Amino acid sequence: MEGFRELGIIEPVLKAIEEEKFEHPSEVQEKSIPVVLSGKDVIAGSATGSGKTLAFGCGIIQRCERGRGLQALVLAPTRELAEQVSRAMRNFSKYKRLEIIAVYGGVGIEPQIRNIRNADVVVGTPGRLLDHLERKTIDFRNLRIVVLDEADKMFEMGFIEDVERILKSCPAQRQTLLFSATISRDVVHVAQKHMKSPVEVAVEGNVDPQKLQQCYYEVPDNLKFSLLVHLLKNEKSKLVMVFCNTKRNTDFVARNLKHAGINALAIHGGLSQAKRNRTLGEFHAQNIQVLVCTDVASRGLDIPGISHVYNYDIPKESRQYIHRIGRTARAGKEGKAVNILCSRDYDNFSRVLRDNAVEIPKEKTPYVERVVIAFTGRTPSPSGARTRFPSRAVPRHGYRRFNW
Ligand code: AMP
Repeated sequence: MEGFRELGIIEPVLKAIEEEKFEHPSEVQEKSIPVVLSGKDVIAGSATGSGKTLAFGCGIIQRCERGRGLQALVLAPTRELAEQVSRAMRNFSKYKRLEIIAVYGGVGIEPQIRNIRNADVVVGTPGRLLDHLERKTIDFRNLRIVVLDEADKMFEMGFIEDVERILKSCPAQRQTLLFSATISRDVVHVAQKHMKSPVEVAVEGNVDPQKLQQCYYEVPDNLKFSLLVHLLKNEKSKLVMVFCNTKRNTDFVARNLKHAGINALAIHGGLSQAKRNRTLGEFHAQNIQVLVCTDVASRGLDIPGISHVYNYDIPKESRQYIHRIGRTARAGKEGKAVNILCSRDYDNFSRVLRDNAVEIPKEKTPYVERVVIAFTGRTPSPSGARTRFPSRAVPRHGYRRFNW
Protein backbone atom coordinates (compact mmCIF):
# COMPACT_ATOMS: atom_id res chain seq x y z
CA MET A 1 0.00 0.00 0.00
CA GLU A 2 2.92 2.35 0.74
CA GLY A 3 3.76 2.47 -2.95
CA PHE A 4 0.30 3.89 -3.72
CA ARG A 5 0.38 6.30 -0.75
CA GLU A 6 3.71 7.71 -1.91
CA LEU A 7 2.15 8.65 -5.24
CA GLY A 8 -0.17 11.06 -3.40
CA ILE A 9 -3.36 8.99 -3.42
CA ILE A 10 -5.81 9.94 -0.66
CA GLU A 11 -7.04 7.58 2.08
CA PRO A 12 -10.54 6.78 0.76
CA VAL A 13 -9.07 5.68 -2.58
CA LEU A 14 -6.24 3.80 -0.84
CA LYS A 15 -8.83 1.89 1.14
CA ALA A 16 -10.62 0.83 -2.05
CA ILE A 17 -7.30 -0.16 -3.65
CA GLU A 18 -6.45 -2.24 -0.61
CA GLU A 19 -9.76 -4.08 -0.91
CA GLU A 20 -8.93 -4.80 -4.56
CA LYS A 21 -5.76 -6.45 -3.20
CA PHE A 22 -3.48 -4.50 -5.49
CA GLU A 23 -0.06 -4.72 -3.92
CA HIS A 24 2.09 -2.37 -5.96
CA PRO A 25 1.33 0.36 -8.47
CA SER A 26 1.70 -0.74 -12.08
CA GLU A 27 4.24 1.05 -14.23
CA VAL A 28 1.76 3.44 -15.81
CA GLN A 29 0.32 4.22 -12.36
CA GLU A 30 3.71 4.86 -10.85
CA LYS A 31 4.77 7.17 -13.64
CA SER A 32 1.56 9.02 -14.37
CA ILE A 33 -0.32 9.40 -11.06
CA PRO A 34 1.96 12.10 -9.58
CA VAL A 35 1.68 14.12 -12.81
CA VAL A 36 -2.09 13.55 -13.05
CA LEU A 37 -2.51 14.73 -9.44
CA SER A 38 -0.38 17.81 -10.10
CA GLY A 39 -3.06 18.97 -12.54
CA LYS A 40 -0.85 18.91 -15.65
CA ASP A 41 -1.93 17.51 -19.01
CA VAL A 42 -0.59 14.01 -19.64
CA ILE A 43 -0.05 11.74 -22.65
CA ALA A 44 0.56 8.23 -21.45
CA GLY A 45 1.49 5.29 -23.62
CA SER A 46 -0.51 2.50 -22.07
CA ALA A 47 -1.96 -0.70 -23.38
CA THR A 48 -5.22 -2.24 -22.29
CA GLY A 49 -4.68 -4.04 -19.02
CA SER A 50 -1.87 -1.76 -17.88
CA GLY A 51 -3.82 -0.29 -14.97
CA LYS A 52 -4.60 3.02 -16.66
CA THR A 53 -8.13 3.33 -15.24
CA LEU A 54 -6.77 3.89 -11.75
CA ALA A 55 -4.08 6.18 -13.20
CA PHE A 56 -6.64 8.70 -14.44
CA GLY A 57 -9.41 7.55 -12.07
CA CYS A 58 -7.63 8.70 -8.92
CA GLY A 59 -7.08 12.15 -10.47
CA ILE A 60 -10.82 12.42 -11.14
CA ILE A 61 -11.87 11.05 -7.76
CA GLN A 62 -9.52 13.33 -5.86
CA ARG A 63 -10.39 16.50 -7.71
CA CYS A 64 -14.17 16.12 -8.04
CA GLU A 65 -16.77 16.68 -5.32
CA ARG A 66 -20.28 15.33 -5.13
CA GLY A 67 -23.03 17.64 -6.39
CA ARG A 68 -21.00 20.33 -8.13
CA GLY A 69 -22.20 19.55 -11.63
CA LEU A 70 -20.45 17.51 -14.28
CA GLN A 71 -16.76 17.87 -13.46
CA ALA A 72 -15.08 15.04 -15.35
CA LEU A 73 -15.63 13.46 -18.74
CA VAL A 74 -14.00 10.25 -19.96
CA LEU A 75 -14.23 9.46 -23.68
CA ALA A 76 -13.97 5.78 -24.53
CA PRO A 77 -14.13 4.03 -27.93
CA THR A 78 -16.73 1.38 -27.17
CA ARG A 79 -19.72 0.91 -24.92
CA GLU A 80 -18.02 -2.10 -23.31
CA LEU A 81 -15.05 0.01 -22.35
CA ALA A 82 -17.32 2.82 -21.13
CA GLU A 83 -19.14 0.32 -18.90
CA GLN A 84 -15.91 -1.24 -17.68
CA VAL A 85 -14.28 2.11 -16.88
CA SER A 86 -17.35 3.48 -15.09
CA ARG A 87 -17.65 0.28 -13.06
CA ALA A 88 -13.98 0.38 -12.08
CA MET A 89 -14.22 4.06 -11.15
CA ARG A 90 -17.32 3.48 -9.03
CA ASN A 91 -15.36 0.83 -7.25
CA PHE A 92 -12.30 3.03 -6.65
CA SER A 93 -14.56 5.84 -5.40
CA LYS A 94 -16.74 3.78 -3.07
CA TYR A 95 -15.39 5.63 -0.01
CA LYS A 96 -15.74 9.05 -1.60
CA ARG A 97 -19.21 9.33 -2.98
CA LEU A 98 -19.46 10.48 -6.56
CA GLU A 99 -22.14 9.92 -9.15
CA ILE A 100 -20.43 8.20 -12.08
CA ILE A 101 -22.48 7.18 -15.09
CA ALA A 102 -21.86 5.54 -18.46
CA VAL A 103 -23.40 7.07 -21.58
CA TYR A 104 -23.38 5.31 -24.95
CA GLY A 105 -25.50 4.67 -28.01
CA GLY A 106 -27.78 1.78 -28.79
CA VAL A 107 -29.88 2.29 -25.66
CA GLY A 108 -32.68 4.73 -24.82
CA ILE A 109 -31.58 8.35 -24.44
CA GLU A 110 -34.27 9.49 -21.96
CA PRO A 111 -32.92 7.70 -18.85
CA GLN A 112 -29.46 9.03 -19.73
CA ILE A 113 -30.79 12.59 -19.89
CA ARG A 114 -32.18 12.23 -16.38
CA ASN A 115 -29.00 10.63 -15.01
CA ILE A 116 -26.66 13.16 -16.59
CA ARG A 117 -28.36 15.99 -14.63
CA ASN A 118 -27.19 14.42 -11.40
CA ALA A 119 -23.79 13.11 -12.53
CA ASP A 120 -20.37 14.27 -11.31
CA VAL A 121 -18.52 12.10 -13.82
CA VAL A 122 -19.63 10.84 -17.25
CA VAL A 123 -17.86 8.05 -19.12
CA GLY A 124 -19.13 7.92 -22.68
CA THR A 125 -18.64 7.10 -26.31
CA PRO A 126 -18.15 10.08 -28.66
CA GLY A 127 -21.25 9.56 -30.85
CA ARG A 128 -23.78 9.55 -28.03
CA LEU A 129 -22.02 12.39 -26.21
CA LEU A 130 -22.28 14.55 -29.33
CA ASP A 131 -25.94 13.66 -29.50
CA HIS A 132 -26.41 14.96 -25.95
CA LEU A 133 -24.41 18.10 -26.76
CA GLU A 134 -26.62 18.83 -29.75
CA ARG A 135 -29.76 18.30 -27.70
CA LYS A 136 -28.23 20.45 -24.94
CA THR A 137 -28.89 17.68 -22.44
CA ILE A 138 -25.31 17.75 -21.15
CA ASP A 139 -23.64 20.76 -19.59
CA PHE A 140 -19.86 21.08 -19.85
CA ARG A 141 -19.50 24.38 -17.95
CA ASN A 142 -18.16 22.81 -14.77
CA LEU A 143 -15.80 20.33 -16.47
CA ARG A 144 -12.31 20.32 -14.99
CA ILE A 145 -10.90 17.05 -16.31
CA VAL A 146 -11.28 15.39 -19.71
CA VAL A 147 -9.80 11.95 -20.39
CA LEU A 148 -9.31 10.35 -23.81
CA ASP A 149 -9.09 6.65 -23.06
CA GLU A 150 -7.64 4.33 -25.70
CA ALA A 151 -7.32 7.35 -27.95
CA ASP A 152 -5.67 5.49 -30.82
CA LYS A 153 -8.51 2.98 -30.92
CA MET A 154 -11.04 5.80 -30.83
CA PHE A 155 -9.37 7.48 -33.82
CA GLU A 156 -9.00 4.19 -35.70
CA MET A 157 -12.74 3.75 -35.34
CA GLY A 158 -13.24 7.08 -37.10
CA PHE A 159 -14.17 9.19 -34.06
CA ILE A 160 -11.49 11.84 -34.47
CA GLU A 161 -13.84 14.59 -35.68
CA ASP A 162 -16.40 13.78 -32.99
CA VAL A 163 -13.67 13.87 -30.35
CA GLU A 164 -12.40 17.22 -31.62
CA ARG A 165 -15.90 18.68 -31.59
CA ILE A 166 -16.40 17.51 -28.03
CA LEU A 167 -13.04 18.93 -26.96
CA LYS A 168 -13.93 22.29 -28.55
CA SER A 169 -17.08 22.39 -26.44
CA CYS A 170 -15.16 21.86 -23.19
CA PRO A 171 -13.94 24.80 -21.09
CA ALA A 172 -10.43 25.97 -22.07
CA GLN A 173 -9.40 25.85 -18.40
CA ARG A 174 -9.23 22.12 -17.89
CA GLN A 175 -6.86 19.22 -17.49
CA THR A 176 -6.68 16.83 -20.45
CA LEU A 177 -5.34 13.30 -20.03
CA LEU A 178 -4.73 11.09 -23.03
CA PHE A 179 -4.09 7.35 -22.76
CA SER A 180 -3.15 5.41 -25.85
CA ALA A 181 -1.39 2.16 -26.71
CA THR A 182 0.31 3.81 -29.66
CA ILE A 183 1.21 7.42 -30.23
CA SER A 184 -0.18 7.65 -33.76
CA ARG A 185 -0.23 10.70 -36.06
CA ASP A 186 -3.81 11.46 -35.02
CA VAL A 187 -2.86 11.27 -31.35
CA VAL A 188 -0.03 13.78 -31.93
CA HIS A 189 -2.40 16.03 -33.89
CA VAL A 190 -5.03 16.07 -31.15
CA ALA A 191 -2.40 16.58 -28.46
CA GLN A 192 -0.89 19.56 -30.27
CA LYS A 193 -4.24 21.15 -30.92
CA HIS A 194 -6.13 20.46 -27.70
CA MET A 195 -3.63 19.95 -24.89
CA LYS A 196 -1.42 22.35 -22.91
CA SER A 197 2.26 21.35 -22.75
CA PRO A 198 1.41 17.72 -21.98
CA VAL A 199 3.88 15.65 -19.98
CA GLU A 200 4.66 12.47 -21.88
CA VAL A 201 4.74 9.31 -19.83
CA ALA A 202 6.45 6.45 -21.61
CA VAL A 203 5.62 3.06 -20.22
CA GLU A 204 8.15 0.35 -20.71
CA GLY A 205 5.67 -2.48 -20.67
CA ASN A 206 3.74 -0.83 -23.45
CA VAL A 207 3.04 -2.79 -26.58
CA ASP A 208 2.44 -1.63 -30.11
CA PRO A 209 -0.25 -4.03 -31.34
CA GLN A 210 0.65 -3.25 -34.96
CA LYS A 211 4.09 -4.68 -34.44
CA LEU A 212 3.44 -7.47 -31.99
CA GLN A 213 1.97 -10.73 -33.11
CA GLN A 214 0.50 -12.93 -30.39
CA CYS A 215 -0.60 -16.56 -30.58
CA TYR A 216 -1.08 -19.65 -28.48
CA TYR A 217 -0.67 -23.41 -28.82
CA GLU A 218 -2.43 -26.12 -26.89
CA VAL A 219 -0.49 -29.25 -26.05
CA PRO A 220 -0.93 -32.26 -23.80
CA ASP A 221 0.98 -31.79 -20.53
CA ASN A 222 3.76 -34.14 -21.51
CA LEU A 223 4.53 -32.34 -24.78
CA LYS A 224 4.93 -28.82 -23.46
CA PHE A 225 8.70 -28.85 -23.35
CA SER A 226 8.97 -30.70 -26.67
CA LEU A 227 6.86 -28.05 -28.39
CA LEU A 228 9.05 -25.30 -26.99
CA VAL A 229 12.13 -27.03 -28.41
CA HIS A 230 10.39 -27.55 -31.72
CA LEU A 231 9.42 -23.89 -32.01
CA LEU A 232 12.82 -22.62 -30.93
CA LYS A 233 14.46 -24.79 -33.55
CA ASN A 234 12.04 -23.99 -36.34
CA GLU A 235 11.01 -20.34 -35.90
CA LYS A 236 13.37 -17.82 -37.37
CA SER A 237 14.35 -15.76 -34.36
CA LYS A 238 16.97 -13.44 -32.98
CA LEU A 239 17.13 -13.14 -29.20
CA VAL A 240 14.46 -15.03 -27.31
CA MET A 241 13.07 -14.79 -23.80
CA VAL A 242 11.26 -17.76 -22.27
CA PHE A 243 9.19 -16.94 -19.20
CA CYS A 244 8.43 -19.36 -16.39
CA ASN A 245 6.47 -18.78 -13.20
CA THR A 246 8.94 -20.42 -10.80
CA LYS A 247 12.67 -20.61 -10.28
CA ARG A 248 12.40 -24.37 -10.47
CA ASN A 249 10.78 -24.36 -13.90
CA THR A 250 13.27 -21.75 -15.08
CA ASP A 251 16.20 -24.02 -14.16
CA PHE A 252 14.42 -27.03 -15.57
CA VAL A 253 13.77 -25.38 -18.95
CA ALA A 254 17.21 -23.80 -19.30
CA ARG A 255 19.10 -26.99 -18.43
CA ASN A 256 17.03 -29.14 -20.73
CA LEU A 257 17.22 -26.66 -23.59
CA LYS A 258 20.98 -26.71 -23.32
CA HIS A 259 20.87 -30.48 -23.35
CA ALA A 260 18.72 -30.31 -26.49
CA GLY A 261 21.43 -28.24 -28.17
CA ILE A 262 19.89 -24.78 -27.68
CA ASN A 263 22.08 -21.98 -26.44
CA ALA A 264 20.14 -21.03 -23.29
CA LEU A 265 20.80 -19.72 -19.78
CA ALA A 266 18.54 -19.18 -16.80
CA ILE A 267 18.11 -16.06 -14.74
CA HIS A 268 16.05 -15.84 -11.56
CA GLY A 269 16.08 -14.39 -8.08
CA GLY A 270 17.71 -17.48 -6.60
CA LEU A 271 21.00 -16.77 -8.39
CA SER A 272 23.67 -14.43 -7.05
CA GLN A 273 23.69 -10.90 -8.43
CA ALA A 274 27.10 -11.53 -9.97
CA LYS A 275 25.80 -14.59 -11.81
CA ARG A 276 22.72 -12.69 -12.98
CA ASN A 277 24.85 -9.83 -14.28
CA ARG A 278 27.12 -12.26 -16.11
CA THR A 279 24.16 -14.00 -17.74
CA LEU A 280 22.59 -10.71 -18.78
CA GLY A 281 25.92 -9.56 -20.19
CA GLU A 282 26.11 -12.74 -22.27
CA PHE A 283 22.58 -12.24 -23.53
CA HIS A 284 23.19 -8.58 -24.36
CA ALA A 285 26.33 -9.54 -26.26
CA GLN A 286 24.22 -12.19 -28.06
CA ASN A 287 26.54 -14.96 -26.89
CA ILE A 288 23.48 -16.81 -25.74
CA GLN A 289 20.29 -16.79 -27.78
CA VAL A 290 17.69 -17.83 -25.25
CA LEU A 291 17.21 -16.32 -21.81
CA VAL A 292 14.92 -18.35 -19.57
CA CYS A 293 13.64 -16.18 -16.75
CA THR A 294 11.10 -15.39 -14.06
CA ASP A 295 9.19 -12.11 -13.94
CA VAL A 296 11.25 -10.71 -11.10
CA ALA A 297 14.52 -11.28 -12.90
CA SER A 298 13.28 -9.64 -16.07
CA ARG A 299 11.95 -6.47 -14.45
CA GLY A 300 13.22 -3.34 -16.11
CA LEU A 301 15.23 -5.21 -18.74
CA ASP A 302 15.58 -3.30 -21.95
CA ILE A 303 17.43 -5.49 -24.37
CA PRO A 304 17.23 -4.63 -28.04
CA GLY A 305 16.79 -7.38 -30.59
CA ILE A 306 14.34 -9.64 -28.76
CA SER A 307 12.27 -11.12 -31.56
CA HIS A 308 10.28 -13.67 -29.52
CA VAL A 309 8.81 -13.97 -26.07
CA TYR A 310 7.61 -17.43 -25.06
CA ASN A 311 5.32 -17.95 -22.11
CA TYR A 312 6.26 -21.44 -21.04
CA ASP A 313 4.03 -20.81 -18.04
CA ILE A 314 1.16 -18.35 -18.38
CA PRO A 315 1.46 -15.66 -15.70
CA LYS A 316 -1.09 -15.39 -12.91
CA GLU A 317 -1.73 -11.69 -13.44
CA SER A 318 -2.52 -9.99 -16.69
CA ARG A 319 -0.19 -7.16 -15.76
CA GLN A 320 2.70 -9.61 -15.81
CA TYR A 321 1.59 -10.79 -19.22
CA ILE A 322 1.67 -7.25 -20.59
CA HIS A 323 5.04 -6.70 -19.01
CA ARG A 324 6.45 -9.90 -20.49
CA ILE A 325 5.27 -9.38 -24.03
CA GLY A 326 6.48 -5.78 -23.88
CA ARG A 327 10.07 -7.12 -23.94
CA THR A 328 9.65 -7.60 -27.68
CA ALA A 329 8.35 -5.39 -30.51
CA ARG A 330 10.20 -2.44 -29.06
CA ALA A 331 11.40 0.71 -30.76
CA GLY A 332 9.41 0.12 -33.93
CA LYS A 333 10.66 -3.46 -34.41
CA GLU A 334 8.39 -6.43 -34.93
CA GLY A 335 8.02 -9.20 -32.39
CA LYS A 336 6.09 -12.29 -31.53
CA ALA A 337 4.63 -13.51 -28.24
CA VAL A 338 3.94 -17.24 -28.10
CA ASN A 339 1.92 -18.90 -25.35
CA ILE A 340 2.31 -22.63 -24.80
CA LEU A 341 -0.71 -23.92 -22.93
CA CYS A 342 -1.23 -27.20 -21.19
CA SER A 343 -3.86 -28.08 -18.62
CA ARG A 344 -2.32 -26.07 -15.78
CA ASP A 345 -2.40 -22.82 -17.78
CA TYR A 346 -6.06 -22.43 -18.73
CA ASP A 347 -7.20 -20.45 -15.69
CA ASN A 348 -4.38 -17.98 -16.01
CA PHE A 349 -4.79 -17.67 -19.76
CA SER A 350 -8.51 -16.93 -19.57
CA ARG A 351 -7.75 -14.21 -17.00
CA VAL A 352 -5.20 -12.66 -19.37
CA LEU A 353 -7.71 -12.66 -22.22
CA ARG A 354 -10.49 -11.22 -20.06
CA ASP A 355 -8.49 -8.46 -18.36
CA ASN A 356 -6.71 -7.34 -21.48
CA ALA A 357 -9.78 -7.65 -23.69
CA VAL A 358 -7.58 -9.11 -26.42
CA GLU A 359 -8.10 -11.85 -28.89
CA ILE A 360 -5.10 -14.11 -29.23
CA PRO A 361 -5.37 -16.52 -32.15
CA LYS A 362 -4.77 -20.22 -31.70
CA GLU A 363 -2.07 -21.83 -33.84
CA LYS A 364 -2.34 -25.38 -35.04
CA THR A 365 0.06 -27.50 -33.03
CA PRO A 366 2.68 -28.94 -35.40
CA TYR A 367 3.86 -32.50 -35.29
CA VAL A 368 6.33 -32.48 -32.44
CA GLU A 369 9.09 -34.93 -31.86
CA ARG A 370 9.21 -35.97 -28.23
CA VAL A 371 12.30 -34.55 -26.51
CA VAL A 372 13.87 -36.64 -23.80
CA ILE A 373 13.92 -34.80 -20.50
CA ALA A 374 17.44 -35.07 -19.17
CA PHE A 375 17.09 -33.11 -15.95
CA THR A 376 14.22 -32.84 -13.54
CA GLY A 377 13.43 -29.52 -11.90
CA ARG A 378 15.19 -30.54 -8.72
CA THR A 379 18.15 -28.40 -7.77
CA PRO A 380 21.35 -30.35 -7.29
CA SER A 381 22.42 -30.82 -3.68
CA PRO A 382 25.06 -28.32 -2.50
CA SER A 383 27.75 -31.00 -2.53
CA GLY A 384 27.11 -31.42 -6.20
CA ALA A 385 26.11 -35.04 -5.70
CA ARG A 386 23.14 -36.14 -7.77
CA THR A 387 19.90 -35.83 -5.89
CA ARG A 388 17.99 -39.04 -5.65
CA PHE A 389 14.30 -39.31 -5.10
CA PRO A 390 13.43 -40.61 -1.68
CA SER A 391 12.04 -44.04 -2.48
CA ARG A 392 8.49 -43.08 -1.44
CA ALA A 393 8.45 -40.16 -3.86
CA VAL A 394 9.54 -42.02 -6.96
CA PRO A 395 6.73 -41.51 -9.43
CA ARG A 396 5.19 -44.73 -10.55
CA HIS A 397 5.21 -43.62 -14.17
CA GLY A 398 8.61 -42.09 -14.59
CA TYR A 399 8.47 -38.30 -14.50
CA ARG A 400 4.82 -37.77 -15.28
CA ARG A 401 4.33 -36.43 -11.79
CA PHE A 402 6.22 -33.30 -12.79
CA ASN A 403 3.83 -32.20 -15.42
CA TRP A 404 6.32 -30.54 -17.71
P1 AMP B 1 -7.00 -1.38 -16.64
O1 AMP B 1 -5.82 -1.23 -17.56
O2 AMP B 1 -7.22 -0.16 -15.83
O3 AMP B 1 -8.22 -1.83 -17.38
O4 AMP B 1 -6.66 -2.54 -15.57
C1 AMP B 1 -6.46 -3.87 -15.99
C2 AMP B 1 -6.60 -4.85 -14.85
O5 AMP B 1 -5.54 -4.70 -13.92
C3 AMP B 1 -7.89 -4.67 -14.05
O6 AMP B 1 -8.39 -5.96 -13.78
C4 AMP B 1 -7.44 -3.98 -12.78
O7 AMP B 1 -8.28 -4.29 -11.72
C5 AMP B 1 -6.04 -4.54 -12.59
N1 AMP B 1 -5.12 -3.63 -11.90
C6 AMP B 1 -5.03 -2.29 -12.03
N2 AMP B 1 -4.04 -1.79 -11.26
C7 AMP B 1 -3.48 -2.86 -10.62
C8 AMP B 1 -2.40 -3.00 -9.68
N3 AMP B 1 -1.71 -1.96 -9.26
N4 AMP B 1 -2.13 -4.24 -9.22
C9 AMP B 1 -2.84 -5.32 -9.66
N5 AMP B 1 -3.85 -5.26 -10.55
C10 AMP B 1 -4.17 -4.04 -11.03
